[in-house]
Amino acid sequence: MPELPEVETIRRDLVKKILNKKIVQVVVYRAKSVAGENTKFVRHLRNNSIIAIERRGKLMVWRLQKKPDLLVHLKMTGQLIYERKIKNRVDIIAGGHKLSEQDIDALPNKFTRVAVVFANGGELFFNDLRVFGYMKLADEKVIQKALAEFGLEPLTKAFTMDYFEELFKRRSRAPVKALLLDQQAIAGLGNIYADEVLFCADVKPSRPASSLSQHERKKIFTCIPKITVEALKHRGTTFRNFLDSSGKKGNYTDFLKVYDRDGEACKRCGTIIKKIRCAGRGTHFCPYCQK
Ligand SMILES: [Zn+2]
Repeated sequence: MPELPEVETIRRDLVKKILNKKIVQVVVYRAKSVAGENTKFVRHLRNNSIIAIERRGKLMVWRLQKKPDLLVHLKMTGQLIYERKIKNRVDIIAGGHKLSEQDIDALPNKFTRVAVVFANGGELFFNDLRVFGYMKLADEKVIQKALAEFGLEPLTKAFTMDYFEELFKRRSRAPVKALLLDQQAIAGLGNIYADEVLFCADVKPSRPASSLSQHERKKIFTCIPKITVEALKHRGTTFRNFLDSSGKKGNYTDFLKVYDRDGEACKRCGTIIKKIRCAGRGTHFCPYCQK
């Protein structure tokens, strides 16, 4: 699932391409992806434009010139792909769920749920294999209600050690990993980055939150923004440099220490990384480094 760094990366990329561009055509291929409101959705977006894209946790709010706005969530497998042919080259940005060459080949494809065409010829495709993601019309009341369900963003000043300590008091018996995944506690961390944060802090994911020392809590608190900033710098784990559109290379996958590395050697001590089930998710850790 795309997490904070992946969603923020595509958000920043889209802001540069689609803001204030008039929408001339909208096609809904799958009604479920727009909460069943095909006709209303198409009518509302046509001749409208996106004036801002905000993000909270993994949820995006696309502000439109004519209200209501849009709530956009990529969930498990959502991708946003923008293409614009300029003379003999194609400007492409793509993000969200892990992308392959096929994902951008011959769009729309069988996983395209919504397509939006802009007056400048740019086209935006919302692809979603599992169809859990959505783009739905939402008035301010609905948006505020959705946003109120999130805890603090890890890269804001409000995210303090005091706030973090409070979370531990509330969730004392839960494994520490479950606490990191709780969107009402910390917005935007998911399975990948929770595992990486706990490696960074030398803490075993299955430890009950109440068993951690203040020193360990402090280490986790410091690692959360550290890992998030690093991941953002490398444009998340799913970014691919299609046709060199952004001029940047690689992604954060090369820097992962434990996530998806079970059976491989720990980059720090050489011990084999283990995978267990914790907080309902596949969880990776080094049995030697993480206590
Ligand atoms: Zn290790």
